[in-house]
Amino acid sequence: MSILCVGSIALDSVETPFGKAERVLGGSAIFFSASASLLTDVSVVGVVGHDYPLDQLRFLSNRGVDLSGIEREDGESFSWAGRYHSDLNTRDTLETHLGVFEEFRPKIPGEFRQSQYVFLANIDPVLQHQVLDQVDSPEVVACDTMNYWIEGKREALTDLLARVDILMLNDEEARQLAGKSNLIRASQWIQERGPEIVIIKKGEHGAILFADDWIFFVPGFPLEQVFDPTGAGDAFAGGVLGYVAQQESVAVDNLRRAMVYGSVLGSFAVEQFSIDGLKDLGEPEILARVAKLRAMTRFEVGEEIERRV
Ligand code: AMP
Repeated sequence: MSILCVGSIALDSVETPFGKAERVLGGSAIFFSASASLLTDVSVVGVVGHDYPLDQLRFLSNRGVDLSGIEREDGESFSWAGRYHSDLNTRDTLETHLGVFEEFRPKIPGEFRQSQYVFLANIDPVLQHQVLDQVDSPEVVACDTMNYWIEGKREALTDLLARVDILMLNDEEARQLAGKSNLIRASQWIQERGPEIVIIKKGEHGAILFADDWIFFVPGFPLEQVFDPTGAGDAFAGGVLGYVAQQESVAVDNLRRAMVYGSVLGSFAVEQFSIDGLKDLGEPEILARVAKLRAMTRFEVGEEIERRV
């Protein structure tokens, strides 16, 4: 089943302890579609400026991603600059330049309006509302956001929660949005406002899914080398929703597996700069990491404990 994704399409400038990359491909919609397209069909809606190297997105169209919903405008592309700390888990945003996103009003092409799976990638929540106004009756609406919008567009974002089924955000953002430092309480605060499922990402420490009456935790895939964590969250979201859409199921067991796909695809994203880690991937590499993660986390409690619980 196909996913409609609307989000930022950016030129990123990134500094990590291992090097620098200037104005490389990035943006929430690009990382998401590079990841989700490994599992299912994806169509992207967004905007770029005159300076965007659209030809570099050919690897996505070659993979079947429908890019016909990307508009090109005269102004400058959205650009973002960030610097990672030595733990590679935390970063400072040095610059966010909205460019053509400032005037952008998403127009969902007719053929995408029936989409059953919608991903509102990190973007202005006012635009996220406008996307949902144009989609007929999606089965699953998943959404991501960021401190920039929690600070700047809090009201639009809290209103949006009532229209979202799955909210994905990182631990710091969850605390900031809910005003609660405990993550269980923060996710309860969010769930009370709409989303049945809240997925809190914790960088290399994995991610936790909170549903009404169950919780699932997936660790980050242990890596020897992390090069550039940018886009890990979007690649994670692509793995989760990509698997859900591929299987057409939000059953508990399926969502648990989807979290594993999220962790695995996030791990590929951070091994190289920009989207390079997601470019030449195929099913065998993905399945190998899914199997390794399973082997690393599976455990038996033993007969004695089994009898007592
Ligand atoms: P992540 O590392 O998963 O948080 O995603 C980083 C990506 O989000 C980068 O490629 C940025 O271009 C993009 N990004 C950064 N800030 C914003 C923002 N305020 N709105 C939308 N996208 C953003």
